[in-house]
Amino acid sequence: KEELNIIQGALELRTKTVEDVLTPLQDCFMLSADALLDFGTMSEIMQSGYTRIPVYENTRSNIVDILFVKDLAFVDPDDCTPLKTITQFYRHPLHWVFNDTKLDAMLEEFKKGKSHLAIVQRVNNEGEGDPFYEVMGIVTLEDVIEEIIKSE
Ligand code: ATP
Ligand code: ATP
Repeated sequence: KEELNIIQGALELRTKTVEDVLTPLQDCFMLSADALLDFGTMSEIMQSGYTRIPVYENTRSNIVDILFVKDLAFVDPDDCTPLKTITQFYRHPLHWVFNDTKLDAMLEEFKKGKSHLAIVQRVNNEGEGDPFYEVMGIVTLEDVIEEIIKSE
């Protein structure tokens, strides 16, 4: 029954973590911080269909900003505006969470926070060297809701 699935999904929020539902970094649509907002870039953004777009510097694992599609309302592609001009104007805060954050806690954070997207990081201590923070991907409110209402 549909209702049982939803109840089950809600109960599982206490045990599942953001790592179980995130969109992996390699699947994220992102922009390089040095991109120009020309016609080509603006078309790619629109065609991606995403509302929130992480911005990285040098390497995709180095996320430094986030662009909201609505930030582009006054941008004219003919001006080839540097993306940095826009991100430095809006300065949306980045929201970081660890991979072992439970989905019920994540839902609470999304409910009280302004942002509905968080960047998931983990502590990588597998190699020889010092442990370091590693970006795994992104999680949005939609990913958590999906976990509640998914019917299998
Ligand atoms: P909204 O529905 O608020 O307009 P959206 O459609 O851009 O936002 P969400 O609904 O929050 O995105 O998420 C839908 C799915 O897309 C989720 O699985 C989420 O992890 C994923 N997602 C969100 N942004 C991106 C992105 N920039 N690149 C790749 N996947 C993304
Ligand atoms: P996003 O968070 O994806 O940028 P948004 O902030 O425009 O979108 P939602 O987060 O979908 O809007 O909705 C927030 C609240 O604002 C909801 O209660 C919704 O019903 C309300 N809302 C959304 N659009 C409008 C609108 N044009 N006029 C009045 N209320 C709106």
